[in-house]
Amino acid sequence: MVIFLLVKDYGGESGGRVTMSRWSEYKQKVGDTRPWDVLNPASPRINIQDANLRYDICLGCDRFIKLTKQCRECGCVMTSKTKLANAACPLGKW
Ligand code: SF4
Repeated sequence: MVIFLLVKDYGGESGGRVTMSRWSEYKQKVGDTRPWDVLNPASPRINIQDANLRYDICLGCDRFIKLTKQCRECGCVMTSKTKLANAACPLGKW
């Protein structure tokens, strides 16, 4: 898959530039946190008040999907991600 993307980028629409793969783009957006960190009790958490402040910001964000509680930028479920100490908004809002 990666090889395909590089070949396509060298010879095609991007004019010879190597563009970021979708996986690299995703990793950059989620930062140091991974969705499965929620399942790891050793992952540091923040207090519930601070998590609620983060979640309130998401509720007012146009990138928030109310139905699934997910962020359109990183794909994470925000009811969980907002509780992780090392998590960050991909748009820098919190
Ligand atoms: S993490 Fe950031 S971009 Fe995503 S819904 Fe929350 S405030 Fe919006």
